[in-house]
Amino acid sequence: MSAIVCSHVAKSYGATTVIRDLNLSIEDHEFVVFLGPSGCGKSTLLRMLAGLEDISGGEVSIGGKVVNDLDPGDRGIAMVFQNYALYPHMTIFDNIAFGLKRQKVPKAEIQQRVQAVSKTLGLEPYLGRKPAELSGGQQQRVAIARAMIKTPKVFLFDEPLSNLDAKLRNHMRVEIARLHQSLKTTTVYVTHDQLEAMTLADRIVLLRDGRIEQIGSPAEIYERP
Ligand code: ADP
Ligand code: ADP
Repeated sequence: MSAIVCSHVAKSYGATTVIRDLNLSIEDHEFVVFLGPSGCGKSTLLRMLAGLEDISGGEVSIGGKVVNDLDPGDRGIAMVFQNYALYPHMTIFDNIAFGLKRQKVPKAEIQQRVQAVSKTLGLEPYLGRKPAELSGGQQQRVAIARAMIKTPKVFLFDEPLSNLDAKLRNHMRVEIARLHQSLKTTTVYVTHDQLEAMTLADRIVLLRDGRIEQIGSPAEIYERP
């Protein structure tokens, strides 16, 4: 069974159709990149995978269950946004621990799990600080830590590196690749950056005007004669 299945998925806002009759299966452990120009529907499709949109037609299932039928806490999804979406008044520790505290995970286990993901992402020195005291790259690492700590079945990334300068972007791109190599969590990653798509993806889904224009490995898409 595929990890994620989109079956005849469609989305319209009023008279405007944004996603048209789209079919796509994503396998366990795959890293899939949605690539395409601004406005082609990448974020809308990603939000549909997350169950954050009312779907106009068709359905999305994750792990064999229709996403929009599940409670948000039962979807097994963690999403990382372009603007990090951290809680500014909370410490880094509390930002990372937020989901676990809500699930009433015991304190000792929260401590242990926050320490573990912080170590993986090099965040241990910053746990007592507030988000505004961190650089953009560090804040994005916190957002990734907050997603990782939930041990989701699926990671969804929406242009996570777009707000970083070129050097940090390269650095974080390598870090995301390394994380995926070790965790092997099924990942869907939205970007308009061809380099990110080519270096991160097992498969690239090229979107244009709400349709899949092309789909294949980076080699299949970019190294054709
Ligand atoms: P991308 O992520 O590829 O840049 P989006 O999925 O954000 O594209 O948007 C696809 C299209 O849907 C755009 O034309 C955008 O204007 C339109 N759109 C997105 N959200 C809304 C909304 N809430 N209401 C109306 N139109 C929207
Ligand atoms: P509670 O918030 O229920 O009092 P704790 O006693 O575990 O929980 O921790 C108190 C606060 O100290 C936490 O909410 C967090 O902000 C901070 N904290 C806990 N552990 C660390 C840590 N390893 N590094 C930085 N801050 C921490």
